[in-house]
Amino acid sequence: MKIEIKNVSHTYDVEVLNNLNLSLSKYKSVAIIGVSGSGKSTLIRMMSGLEKPTKGEIFINDYDVRDDAYKKKIGFVFQSHNLFPHLTLKKNITLVLEKTRGMIKADAEAIALKNLHLLHLDDQVNKLPKNVSGGQAQRASIARALSMDPDIIFLDEPTSSLDPILTHEVLTAIEELRNLGKEFILVTHVMSFAKDFADYVIFMKAGQIAEQGLPSILDNPQTQALKDFMEKVR
Ligand code: ADP
Ligand code: MG
Repeated sequence: MKIEIKNVSHTYDVEVLNNLNLSLSKYKSVAIIGVSGSGKSTLIRMMSGLEKPTKGEIFINDYDVRDDAYKKKIGFVFQSHNLFPHLTLKKNITLVLEKTRGMIKADAEAIALKNLHLLHLDDQVNKLPKNVSGGQAQRASIARALSMDPDIIFLDEPTSSLDPILTHEVLTAIEELRNLGKEFILVTHVMSFAKDFADYVIFMKAGQIAEQGLPSILDNPQTQALKDFMEKVR
């Protein structure tokens, strides 16, 4: 995918992104890592077009991320699933397809079941979110994002609310999606996953990109900042 970030800064009450620039063209899955508060979520939200930077511009696959056309090309999975609590896993998907894509029920159901199957949820499709595990709910939100047939899937720490077993289950399911021909931009605190899954890694520190490169930088950090970070997370 092609990523162009030009002079992007973002201020809430203080500056959280400080003049980011990035130009990538040949990677299919990009991981963003860094300590809590370093600006990872802000950056991934800006890249997805969910939020606008105070300054600067972002282009992804030649779309200005502010364009409505771009919004149809992406799916976003949040830290904790945001499924509708009163709808079954299947209905969570079919309703969105019917409302936002104008699909007839039978087509929406076929797509929902196909994607729930991909995430190994065949026997959970008629359950409410509160009656499945956190890992299953998170996999259902991934299935919902996939059902919009996006080119790019954004994931912001999809396992941060899960225990190690469920984390493993969700990350394994994401790994299996690699062959679908989708592109991924994700924030993760699981370094082994960043290493296995991503083909490019961005390390954020205090609102700046402190180091970036192939996943091998995680084993061989070039900056003291990434060295210190890797010491802490291992
Ligand atoms: P990360 O995802 O790396 O933990 P965030 O992008 O969430 O970092 O946050 C970066 C900084 O911006 C933090 O100091 C956080 O408190 C602040 N921040 C994030 N979102 C908001 C917001 N909506 N309003 C005010 N401050 C925010
Ligand atoms: Mg975050």
